[in-house]
Order: sequence, then C-alpha cells, then structure tokens
Amino acid sequence: MADVTADRGAVGVSQGLGRAVILLGPPGAGKGTQAQRIAQRYHLPHLSTGDMFRDNIQRDTELGRKAKPLMERGELVPDEIVLGMVANRIGQADCAKGFVFDGFPRTLQQADDLERICRQYKLGCTIVLHMVVNPALLMRRLTGRRICKAGGHIYNVYERPPRREGICDVDGSELIHRPDDSEGVIGERLHAYDRQTQPLVEYYKSRELLTPVDAMAVADTVTEAIARILDGAIAHK
Ligand code: ADP
Repeated sequence: MADVTADRGAVGVSQGLGRAVILLGPPGAGKGTQAQRIAQRYHLPHLSTGDMFRDNIQRDTELGRKAKPLMERGELVPDEIVLGMVANRIGQADCAKGFVFDGFPRTLQQADDLERICRQYKLGCTIVLHMVVNPALLMRRLTGRRICKAGGHIYNVYERPPRREGICDVDGSELIHRPDDSEGVIGERLHAYDRQTQPLVEYYKSRELLTPVDAMAVADTVTEAIARILDGAIAHK
C-alpha cells in the first residue's frame, strides 16, 4: 500500500503509548488497514488474531488445524484457544510499550481477559476506537478486498486498487482474495459480529474507554482522525 501518512512523526513516539489500542468494528470496517498504519506511525506491534490464525493454518500447527474449519465457516474460534495465543504474544518484550489490536477482543469473555492481562503487565487504560460504518458498505468492501501475499498490504478493487492489477504496489508480490471473503461466509461473519462482538460497544462505553471514529471516510482521513485521538492520549499521559 502506498502509504503517505504512516511515516510522519507522531507526538511522544519515543516513550510509546504504554497502552493497548483496540480497533473495534465489523469485518470490512478497515481495522486491518488502520492498524497497520497506526502501528507504523507509533512504532507499536500490530497484533491481528486473524493473521495469527492464518499463519498457524499455513504452518499446519495444531492451533491452525483447530481454527481452520471454524474460520472457513465464518464462525469465531473458541475463547480459550484465542486467549492462550494472545496472552503468549502480549508477554513478549516488544509489547511492553503498548500494541495495536485488530480483531481482538471479539467476545465479552475476551474483553475481561484482556483487562486482566493489561493489569498484569501494568499497561495503562485501554484505548478503544470504535470504527463506525454503514452496514450496506461492508459487503462491497469485503468482496473487493485483496491482500498481498508477502507483506499483508491491503487493497480494495473498488476503493483502493493497486496500480497494476493483482500486484502489490509496495513489494510486487501477488494479491490474494481471502477464502472467507466470499459472499456466503461474509454473511456469517457479519452475523457473528452482531451476536458476539457488538455487545463490546456497551461494555467499553460504560467504562468510558470508547471513542467513535467515522470509518466511512477515505482511509487517509480515518488515519488522521485516529492519530488526533492517540496524540491527545499521549499528550495527557
Ligand atoms: P475480519 O475482522 O475481517 O472478519 P479477521 O482476520 O480478524 O477478519 O478474522 C478472521 C477469522 O479468524 C474470524 O472470522 C474468526 O474465525 C477468527 N478470529 C480472529 N480473531 C478472533 C477472535 N478474537 N476470537 C475468535 N475468533 C477469531
């Protein structure tokens, strides 16, 4: 992805956020794109549970074998499997300065557990960015999504096409269509979001941790809006 915004300096980069940043929103809201940009801009690790599972599937691990059939149907992987994987990752040294989560937490149980893990590692208050989108847009965004095989750079054939069809602008590798980005599976993923993840909006709102972001805007505008929120959080640390 030719990303013009990610390299610009950010306030307080050197000290890091020291907090978990969560991107909360339905599939297709742009969580992956924005998480990549924020992670780069604030020098934080980008943790995507979806990517972690896809990596395990590719390496044919036990975890990957458990997750694969569920992901193919658009269902969530059970909490205990996700939590073991996430706790392990947060315990690594690079997460001490904070991290950006995309795709986690997705259930109330996962949110409770994340809170406990953050306390354990003495991280500050979680920042939850609620990516607000019109549901009618999501199907088009997801069916049009293409992902670079080598670097995970994200494109959309309708909204943000690569310069050369099927080829990543950044590293020239092949762009793939995720198998769960087919219409039938997308319907199930959106349903799982409404049922299991939407309740997190109230959960974080009641804890005064939730900040809404207009995720219908073009990607650069969304990035700028998020950066203003995070710069504000760093300035008031
Ligand atoms: P999206 O947000 O676009 O649906 P992800 O890449 O985040 O895509 O997730 C793909 C799939 O991986 C989900 O449909 C689900 O099966 C599984 N998954 C990812 N994160 C979680 C999670 N936190 N809890 C349970 N399942 C998850």
